[in-house]
Amino acid sequence: MLYELKYVSTHGVYKLHTAIGYFLSDGLNRTKFGEECFPSWFRPVLSASPSLRSKASSIHRKARRSNKGIRDAIHRVWISQNQVQKLCSTPSLKLEDWGFKNERLIKELKGLFSYLYENTLESKSFEKAGGNSLKDHYNKFRNLDQRVCPFCGLCYYEDRESKTRSAYDHWLARTHYPLAAVNFQNLVPMCDSCNKRPRKGTKNILFQSADPSKRQSFYYPYNKICGIKIEVTCLTKPNPSNPRGKWSVKTTASTVVEEPLVKAWDAVFDIETRFSARIMEGLDGWMKDFLNVKDYRTTPTLPTLREDLSTRAAWLAMPNQLKKRAESALESAAFSYLAAEASDPVLAGYARISTSPAIQEIPTVLGKNRN
Ligand SMILES: [Zn+2]
Repeated sequence: MLYELKYVSTHGVYKLHTAIGYFLSDGLNRTKFGEECFPSWFRPVLSASPSLRSKASSIHRKARRSNKGIRDAIHRVWISQNQVQKLCSTPSLKLEDWGFKNERLIKELKGLFSYLYENTLESKSFEKAGGNSLKDHYNKFRNLDQRVCPFCGLCYYEDRESKTRSAYDHWLARTHYPLAAVNFQNLVPMCDSCNKRPRKGTKNILFQSADPSKRQSFYYPYNKICGIKIEVTCLTKPNPSNPRGKWSVKTTASTVVEEPLVKAWDAVFDIETRFSARIMEGLDGWMKDFLNVKDYRTTPTLPTLREDLSTRAAWLAMPNQLKKRAESALESAAFSYLAAEASDPVLAGYARISTSPAIQEIPTVLGKNRN
């Protein structure tokens, strides 16, 4: 991924995870179901939602009819599925299975967590009891200087003041890890393009895509990372009949130890294909914007153009640019390629148009960009 995310340190929405944890550990050990199976602050939420109460009550009844071994197993699976950071970093860490055959109870547990995520998390009663809304959490997440989706670097998160927000992805997908559905260590804001199939979707990131029986390490979005290198190669030079050309992009880790993480990230998010496609779409516009910003008054020599492209590439790769400006990592890699590898005729073509009115005075619907 392009940069590690910062975690909102404390927030009211985190309390939903602790409330359900209380129910699974203390609540299921009580002989009778009642509001005391949940923390006192959560009781108004339970009172306001007969569906939630009914689901919890049914699980309690079935768990109490079972032996203590089953109640302990539920708690073990809960703990196991919520070790999100450890599970991502340590492929040898054992994943607890249910270990019992009561399919009805397992189905109801999954249904309870789905309900908590889809209904309770954004309910008025939980917002009041927890003290904050999910939108408030999203705004606080965005306040941490995180504007660009770090999983692709190509798209922006939704704006804070717009009426909508970016979706929260279940890093460990709900399909596979249902009991981590309302754990914010497992809920990660992500752009729509990354979140949906055929990108992340419901993929099980803890297992290799090539061999789903084998565990793998995967990025944990809030862990410190060393970064990636993006290498651009031109397969077909742009020309009048094919102005976008054809490009190939390779991503590698900055350190050997993170190489498996970068490979797995590419496999899940389809990064190299998306980067190659975006260069074809974006390069001509990036170059024209660059020439406009440079504001050359005389045609630059090719060595000057190469040097200026290299300087621009370094600026675009700075951490604050990666977080605030979509496409900056890829644009930086493309400019590095042009600075070091592009042929003289290709650069000469851009040098020729650098002082033209079409570059220097780009008309827009808002009027000319210079008086
Ligand atoms: Zn994205």
